[in-house]
Amino acid sequence: MRMVLLGPPNSGKGTQAVRLAKRYGIPAISTGDMFRQAVRARTPVGRTAKEYMDQGLLVPDDVTIEAVKERLRKPDIRDGFILDGFPRSLEQATALTAILQEAEVRLDVVLSLEVPEDLLVKRAIGRRVCKCGATYHVTNDPPKVEGKCDTCGQQLFHRRDDTAEVVAERLKTYVEKTEPVKEYYRRQGILLELDGSGSIEHSSGVVDRALEMLS
Ligand code: AMP
Repeated sequence: MRMVLLGPPNSGKGTQAVRLAKRYGIPAISTGDMFRQAVRARTPVGRTAKEYMDQGLLVPDDVTIEAVKERLRKPDIRDGFILDGFPRSLEQATALTAILQEAEVRLDVVLSLEVPEDLLVKRAIGRRVCKCGATYHVTNDPPKVEGKCDTCGQQLFHRRDDTAEVVAERLKTYVEKTEPVKEYYRRQGILLELDGSGSIEHSSGVVDRALEMLS
């Protein structure tokens, strides 16, 4: 299964990507996580990425495409992958098509999680994340022990770009840059728009039913 998960910030695509990756036994590749790791490691890519991430803007296409190209060279994607948060611009989408064409494979499906804007802001303010990739929400999906990750026990943190101002900017960026990506895949006949406005369980059910219909 080769899949792309699209959706505005806090649509729940990261949660679904991690869940589906386990289920299908294929890697979930999150460009956001890749950049956060690079920021922590203070690499040159990390330094560039931080400037844009802190403002809710997209990291430049050339940097992002190169990072994904490198990731897709690893052998663990042989049986498939789930791209979470990539592509986010038309340039990235056409670059991905070229990368896959070269490897003589194609995407099976692009899922887009749809959530109303007011709900996205509420989710962002309460979101807490762990370095291991796990995500929680202070009221909707709290960890068993406050502030600690259920999976690895590390301290949870509030992302710097989950404040109301930065979320508003990220949503604007999404509408301007990423909405056209949906049209790109709609034309290819592989886009499925799904309701992501309910609980995690609800979204999981919606996603699973959509994938069952494909197979
Ligand atoms: P995410 O964790 O997917 O919400 O991504 C967090 C931030 O990382 C975004 O707001 C962007 O600044 C940056 N980022 C992640 N993926 C991409 C991408 N495909 N293109 C450009 N910037 C990205």
